[in-house]
Amino acid sequence: MFPHKFQQIKSQLMLSYLGIMIAILGSTSLIIYEIISHNLFRQFENNALKTATNAGLILDLVKHEHEEYFKPNDFNLTLKDLINRSEANINIANNNVYKNNPYFFGNQDISIQWLNEEKKVLVKEGNLIIQWEEFSPSKINKYYDYQNNLFSLILPIKNHKNDQLIGYIKIIESTGFLKNNLFWLKISLILGGGFALILTTGGAFLLTKQSLQPIIASFQELKQFTADASHELRTPLTVIKTSADLVLNNHEEISQDNLHKIKTIVSATEEMNILVNDLLLLARMDKEITEKEKFFIKLPLDEICEDLFDLLEVQAQSSQITLKCDLTPNLWIKGNASHVQRLLTNILSNALQYTPKKGKVIFTLKKELHWAIITVEDTGIGINSQELKNIFHRFWRGEGGRSHRKEGSGLGLAIAEKIAIHHGGKITVESVLSQGSTFRIYLPIIG
Ligand code: ADP
Repeated sequence: MFPHKFQQIKSQLMLSYLGIMIAILGSTSLIIYEIISHNLFRQFENNALKTATNAGLILDLVKHEHEEYFKPNDFNLTLKDLINRSEANINIANNNVYKNNPYFFGNQDISIQWLNEEKKVLVKEGNLIIQWEEFSPSKINKYYDYQNNLFSLILPIKNHKNDQLIGYIKIIESTGFLKNNLFWLKISLILGGGFALILTTGGAFLLTKQSLQPIIASFQELKQFTADASHELRTPLTVIKTSADLVLNNHEEISQDNLHKIKTIVSATEEMNILVNDLLLLARMDKEITEKEKFFIKLPLDEICEDLFDLLEVQAQSSQITLKCDLTPNLWIKGNASHVQRLLTNILSNALQYTPKKGKVIFTLKKELHWAIITVEDTGIGINSQELKNIFHRFWRGEGGRSHRKEGSGLGLAIAEKIAIHHGGKITVESVLSQGSTFRIYLPIIG
């Protein structure tokens, strides 16, 4: 089972991996779409140009050699009219214009027009119309009417002998099929991308799991080491303490100087004992987090709070701090009694320790929905906003905290938070430097 932090790292890793994959897949699909659509349009325009060039050859031929087919003011002839007029002189119907474009005759999607030098229509085939008058006589003109899904190409035709402008070929083509092709391309890319994304999600899940495995293993090893080391240190520490106590009991034979040294050994050993026990407690709770329910019993939270208040009232009085409490009766939780006591003691004794003389500490217990909320509010030294995010880290001590109080290991809040989480709850903190802090402990109530 992943500890809470690893779950967080795992989700973050997965999200960033997925984010990168979505960006890669998205931009690749976009590039593929752009390349294919560009090629489709180019091919489409080339076909239109080929048709126009072939038609231009005939226009040149007819205009040059058979001007008689066009009578004065005789415009808008159909291709069939022209074929009839040409009789057997030129076989327009067999010309490349039709051979290369079998879909051309009677095709609803393409129109062709022969224009004279004054841009008047001489011959036309097909019914497509596009409004476009401004075109240049010296280059190939292209125009898209996106609203009506039409494309038009106008090719100026010059006499092959004297290079004089003799007219234009105007092609009008529907872009409907292009749009249709691009629509299906888009659908395929979206479906393909979606499928790739599903595979990527699976891959991301496996990869993050695999890449975190060694880190989790070494983290477990480290926790086991802390637990083992703390456990092993307890016996030699007890031996040192007992021996030093024995020497102290026979202090008549010891010089004043040595007596002082032995007293220092005793108090340092006591401090180390507390530290080792705290580390052991943290290591055990890290390990037991999944089987916590086994050791939990029903606890009267209001009574635990009251006992603690009675215990710490004396300390508050001696520090000249006003300690007040307001406890809602009959609030039950499920948990480990000594751990809950430890949690509340750590928070409340911190409030007393980090509040100067004449200060005030208010200790309340309230019920809100299914939570018991214990609030500890002090008018103490406070914590600045930058330090506040580190407050539950192991061995962390604030600058203000260190200068206000020399003793302390920086493990108290880490233990308190671990116990709260262990009991299905949490701790929040608000603080303003030099004004005070408010710690709130949330524990789930029962009954
Ligand atoms: P310790 O009290 O042993 O230093 P804790 O883990 O209990 O360790 O607290 C960590 C640090 O958080 C303290 O050193 C202090 O800087 C800060 N702190 C905790 N409680 C308070 C409080 N009520 N007011 C101001 N600072 C606090």
